[in-house]
This record gives sequence, C-alpha cells and structure tokens, in this order.
Amino acid sequence: MQVVTSVAAMQRLAKKWQRTGIKIGLVPTMGYLHAGHLSLVQRARKLVGKNGKVAVSIYVNPTQFGPKEDLSRYPRDLKRDLKLLRDEGTDVVFVPSNAEMYPGRVESARGDGPGGRRRPTSVGFSTYVVEEELSRSMEGASRPGHFRGVGTVVAKLFNITLPDVAVFGAKDFQQAAVIKRMTRDLNFPITIDIAPTFREPDGLAMSSRNKYLDGDLRRQGIILWRAIQRAQAVVKKSPVSAKTLRAELKKLIESEPAPKVDYIEFFNPDTLLPVDKVTRGTQMALAVFVGKARLIDNARL
Ligand code: AMP
Repeated sequence: MQVVTSVAAMQRLAKKWQRTGIKIGLVPTMGYLHAGHLSLVQRARKLVGKNGKVAVSIYVNPTQFGPKEDLSRYPRDLKRDLKLLRDEGTDVVFVPSNAEMYPGRVESARGDGPGGRRRPTSVGFSTYVVEEELSRSMEGASRPGHFRGVGTVVAKLFNITLPDVAVFGAKDFQQAAVIKRMTRDLNFPITIDIAPTFREPDGLAMSSRNKYLDGDLRRQGIILWRAIQRAQAVVKKSPVSAKTLRAELKKLIESEPAPKVDYIEFFNPDTLLPVDKVTRGTQMALAVFVGKARLIDNARL
C-alpha cells in the first residue's frame, strides 16, 4: 500500500493508472476510520475489480468546518487508519497537508462562510465550488459554508485522484445528493456510488464523532435511531402531517437529558424538497446535539 502526501505525486500515479486503462475507485474520508468507512472501501474494490486500484483519502478538510465547530478536536489516528486500510487491500492512501491542499489560504481569514470576505492576495487560494440548490436546507442551513467546503475539496480530490468511481455513504444523505449534482453539473466523468449506512448493533449510526459520546451519552445517542423507528412505525399506519410528526419526535428525543434537536426534516429523497404530508417513501433526516457531539442520521420511511 502506497501512502502519498503530495498532490503532484498522487496525480502522477493516477495518470499512470489511467493511461494504462486501470480503473480507479476513490473513497474520500476524514479518517478515524470505522466499519462504515471500510464498507465503502470494500464497495470500491468490488466496483473496480481485482485489477483496479482503490484509493482512500484521509483529510480533515478545514473549509467545511464553521469557525465554532470541532475542526481542532476532530479525532485522528493515522497509524491505526493505515493498518485498517492495509488489511482491507487498499492500493493507495492520499494524506495531504493543509498547505498541499490550500496553498496560500489564510487560516484565520473569515473566508469560509457565506459572504465571507478575504483581503485580496496574488498567492491566496480563492476558488470554491458552490452547489446552489440541494445544499441550502438542513446541513447547509445549520452549517453555513459547509457544502462549499465539501464541494470544493471533493472536486479537488476528483482532479487529484482521477477516479472512475467514487463511493460515498448514505449516512450523509444530503452530502451524497450534493456531490451527485456537482458531478453531473460540472461533467466530472465519474460514477457516484452511494453505500448504505453502517450501524452499531443498537442502531447508532457509526461516526468518527461518536468518540465524543462519553459515559451515558453513548446510550442517549441511540435516540436518533429510535426516532427514525418511531417515524417508520407511524407512517406505516397512515400518512401524517410533518408538523405533527416533528413535534412528536422532538418530544421523544428531548425526553432524554442530553439531546437537543437541531432539525428534523421530511422531504422527497430525489429533490430534497420538504413535504407537508409524510408518507411511506418520504425521506427523514435529523441532527441532534448530544453533549459535545452533533449527530446526524437519516432513513427512508
Ligand atoms: P467522514 O470521514 O465522516 O467524512 O466520512 C467519509 C465517508 O464515509 C462519507 O462518504 C460518509 O458518508 C461515509 N460514512 C460515514 N459514516 C458512515 C456509516 N456509518 N455508514 C456508511 N458510510 C459512512
């Protein structure tokens, strides 16, 4: 398994593979890997075949974090990640530094939010990718600038690793929709594959941020999955107004001591447009603060 830290070296390798007709599968991650990430690596391997190459990127992308978010304390363990990826048969791990990904970007600048301004500089990093429709609601509304950072880094990773296929998780449902749209709109010749959400035995969606769930918070974290299951049980009986169901689920979630609802949304899975009547087939997504962790989950009802 090769570990590559420079953009130039990664692009050279990818171009060589591309020239010789070898298929490349990319799995972008922020590291601190869990079984959900590894299921994406396994899908990438299936999609490119044994003669193809599986590339995994590990990069905690600063431009997708808001100024008050958890960038500096985001969990990291590169040594462990590399062992897991080697055991999975990964061909190359791309682990760039911030200087490599954003040369000239001013760290402290208030440039990553919407309307954020930065002093013009001839060497600064100043080009971003903004999806303007699907990224407005939910995570985009709660985390201004988040999808601008995601779109930008994923577009860069596409240009650096030249994949034929890239695998993303349904755990981040809106992100997957935004990336699919960006790929289509900007004509990246890449197939986007979406992998199902991997869960702990008790239903908690696997996430690097679950590390923040100390002591009893880990138990309380199950409340997102219980809310989804409650919603599924309700719509199985009959359609229900989004307003009523949202109020019921908020009450359920906040009956535990720690959880505070950020949002609960019901929407069309293709358009992400909110629905007034929740029926079978409606997509539900929610974000909940549990102690220091902000957890998200989603499911088809
Ligand atoms: P992250 O490292 O959290 O940025 O995630 C990297 C990729 O793994 C994204 O495409 C996520 O959607 C995906 N992912 C994260 N958690 C899970 C999970 N529990 N099941 C499936 N995919 C996941």
